[in-house]
Amino acid sequence: MDFTFTGTHADRDFGWFGRGLREVMESHGHRFVEDAEAARLILNFFPLGRPKPVRRHASAIFVCSVTEFPTPFTSLLSQGYPILLRSLANLVVGMVPSENGDPDVHFLTPEQGHYQVSGKLPRGRYFEEIYSRIRPLANSTLVIDNFYEGDLPEALWEGDEHTASIRRAGRRLNGLDLLPAPFRVEDHLSPRDIRHIKRLYGIGGLSYGNISARYDDEWFWMSASGVDKSNLAEIGRHILMVKGYDAERNGMVVGHPPGVEPNRVSVDAIEHWMVYREHPSVGAIMHVHGWLDGVPSTEFNYPCGTRELGQAVADIVREAEDPARCVVGLKNHGLTITGASLDEIFDRVGDRIVKHVPMD
Ligand SMILES: [Zn+2]
Repeated sequence: MDFTFTGTHADRDFGWFGRGLREVMESHGHRFVEDAEAARLILNFFPLGRPKPVRRHASAIFVCSVTEFPTPFTSLLSQGYPILLRSLANLVVGMVPSENGDPDVHFLTPEQGHYQVSGKLPRGRYFEEIYSRIRPLANSTLVIDNFYEGDLPEALWEGDEHTASIRRAGRRLNGLDLLPAPFRVEDHLSPRDIRHIKRLYGIGGLSYGNISARYDDEWFWMSASGVDKSNLAEIGRHILMVKGYDAERNGMVVGHPPGVEPNRVSVDAIEHWMVYREHPSVGAIMHVHGWLDGVPSTEFNYPCGTRELGQAVADIVREAEDPARCVVGLKNHGLTITGASLDEIFDRVGDRIVKHVPMD
């Protein structure tokens, strides 16, 4: 993937870091281009406290913000997250001064993943480790476009037993305290940037997790993006019908009742679609930002809504003893769980899910 730098990358504080980053990326086959329009990955450098957003026209472009923080994060949400949002980034790389050595580097993802690379590593290893955290962005493709079809059969306009099970699952997640506290995006972004973020990431606010249930061989119901999962009621707004993946246009085909202004379906629809298509015995899928000890996990932390995350999850489901009843760890991110139904998933693993996702 071609990449470029923007912002204050030539400054005294960032120059050496930028050079090291460029070198390691080039050594892994990525090409540096001067023209931001031609790049698929933009590394956006800015000094502490002055995030400068990179507005992009194509949603297939990833932005990685590179900045400094005076001290290690004590509160991830209040310190790091606003920077991620205000710079409209897919990943924040924050340099934090360390006692003796290069700065420690903290990484922060939109899924609230947080990990770090120690400044005490030798320079070569240091940049290799940093690259390994950027690599998932540099090697993946987002599938967030929705192509709407407002011709859902009338019998489904009010939902069916599957959407009732999705509603129940949302309430049970809430009951288990597995829905994260809402983060008030409005406090950190202008209305214009909120619209931009919605368009780019397909997120309508920061709510996490998603729930789906198979309707037939081809279609499945799935929760919408950015809605309150504890109250999934309206078809077309809170729950949508995923009819397929349009590979040519690289987006999901989404059904809704006529006359409804539809929301976007969850960005992870591509992942669920891959699993349903390959395993006819899977009746339901749930994704939460929680963890279960001992589960097999993806190797890389691919961003939500990418084909690569979907493929990595599908690979592990395929290897499972029973693909229709398995739990997959998404590295530094959460769990994707398959089941015969959502009720079956909760009965099997619901009360064993812990909130804390390991970040090593
Ligand atoms: Zn997630």
